[in-house]
Amino acid sequence: MTVIIVIFEYLSGKLKYRVKMKNLTYLFILFVFLGCEYHEKSPEKPSNNLDNLQKSIGKFGIVIHGGAGTILKEDMSDSLEAAYKAKLKEAISAGYEILKSGGSSLDAVTHTINIMEDSPLFNAGKGAVFTHDGSNELDASIMDGATLNAGAVAGIKHIKNPINLALDVMQKSEHVMLYGAGAEEFAQTLGYKMMDTSYFYTQKRYESLQKVLRNEKEKNGKKVSFEDPFIKNSKFGTVGCAALDKHGNLAAGTSTGGMTNKRWSRIGDAPIIGAGTYAKNATCAVSSTGWGEYFIRAVVAYDISALMEYKGMTLQEAASEVIQKKVPALGGDGGIVAIDKDGNVAMEFNTAGMYRATMNSEGELVIKIYKDE
Ligand code: ASP
Repeated sequence: MTVIIVIFEYLSGKLKYRVKMKNLTYLFILFVFLGCEYHEKSPEKPSNNLDNLQKSIGKFGIVIHGGAGTILKEDMSDSLEAAYKAKLKEAISAGYEILKSGGSSLDAVTHTINIMEDSPLFNAGKGAVFTHDGSNELDASIMDGATLNAGAVAGIKHIKNPINLALDVMQKSEHVMLYGAGAEEFAQTLGYKMMDTSYFYTQKRYESLQKVLRNEKEKNGKKVSFEDPFIKNSKFGTVGCAALDKHGNLAAGTSTGGMTNKRWSRIGDAPIIGAGTYAKNATCAVSSTGWGEYFIRAVVAYDISALMEYKGMTLQEAASEVIQKKVPALGGDGGIVAIDKDGNVAMEFNTAGMYRATMNSEGELVIKIYKDE
């Protein structure tokens, strides 16, 4: 503006010669200054545009798990293996399509988890394991990496898709975590259908509980610790998902029935933000599965993000540090799936297997179950 006024004044001849000369000098200095400024800023300008362009056609990706544990090829029939793989494919493809069409990572995570929650194959929603007294208590959590908002529910008994309620806790309440009857009361205010508990009955999970109870009995009624190999091998199956959307936003979610034979309203890591689920746009999104008590103590999901943030580790380095060193050092086992802000994926576990799948922006799909695949 100043430049225009000075030019105008100069040309209109209103100024005396000396003033004109002075103004010419100012003009010269001003142009040199503007020139420098332009040169300083010019490399930024195209890259800003490029950033925006990259965001709008940005990399995206998704990774899921269906639980880690003693999953051995020799214990698995071909048809069951095919069923697991088909369900993993169906779930991840649903999330992939949402991301591909520009949808949010939160949406992708929720819909992907819904498909696994509705399947009796996984220990979440429909296929939840049984508690000691023969009921099903469900836990779930979700986190938005863009805002660090989070929502969680624990010990709920009548909600078909716990991850949806966790999302509603995040988006429609002022709280982060709701438990039991209170959580279900909140669900009812939102119009959730209360499922009959029989919906969660599956023969396979019921038989697992009976086996564990028989095993307890054989040990003279003594409560068998979770460290008992028998229990250790029968407790996994949680589902989880981590995603990066085209807008650069990360999200993660986890849903579970917990551990077979759990009692006293035991709550594991799945609904604990930082242990079972964590997401932060600057680092990564993580969903855990495994022996919850240890994952809580090792603050697994947050620790992976923190190692990236404070130690400059890559996602893969951070994931193996926590899953291969820190958790086993405490005595725990399990795994995680995670994706970082650049779309790199980690599927790390220290058990014999982990149901897992990932899909990148190019649509490349990987589905695996066992360790050495
Ligand atoms: N982490 C879950 C829990 O401890 C169990 C699992 O991942 O299978 O409740």
